[in-house]
Parts: sequence; structure tokens; C-alpha cells
Amino acid sequence: MSGKIDIGQNKDHIGGNFEWEVEPNCKCGNLIHAVEEQFIFVGNFLIDGFNNFYMMPVAANGYPIRDNGVAITHCPWCGEKIKGKKKYITK
Ligand SMILES: [Zn+2]
Repeated sequence: MSGKIDIGQNKDHIGGNFEWEVEPNCKCGNLIHAVEEQFIFVGNFLIDGFNNFYMMPVAANGYPIRDNGVAITHCPWCGEKIKGKKKYITK
């Protein structure tokens, strides 16, 4: 199939703009998929050595409810503490 982008072939580039130094692997595995699907975002602040994670709630009309995200510290699905860190590539 031409024209179809298979992101499964390139898991190192999540969201196309960063790689993980520490993947946020929780029990259920939903969290990392939510980041890949850009439902949960990874900030650039480090808390205890890990990046901050946040969600952008969207209203029924499709507009964000608030300007800044809602910080999350635990996986919304399984409740495990989120520990993920972006790899910063220095050139
Ligand atoms: Zn989980």
C-alpha cells in the first residue's frame, strides 16, 4: 500500500519529535499509547528526574476547556505512577 505511513516501523520516534530515555511502561500499557496518539502529552519539566505528563481536556464542541493542561502523575487506567523521560539529543 503506497501512501500509508506505518509508524509501527519506527517506534523510536514517538510523535515524530522525540525519543524516550525511559519509556513510561505501566502495568496496562495504555499510557504510552495515549502519548503516541497525542492524547497525553509530555512536558519539558523534570520532576524527580522524570518528565511531567499532562492531558488537554476537550469540550464536546472540540475546543480545549482550559489553556493549560491538567497534570497527571499516575496512569489514568491502572493507577501506576508515571515514570517517563524524554531523551534529549544534544548536537
Ligand atoms: Zn497504566
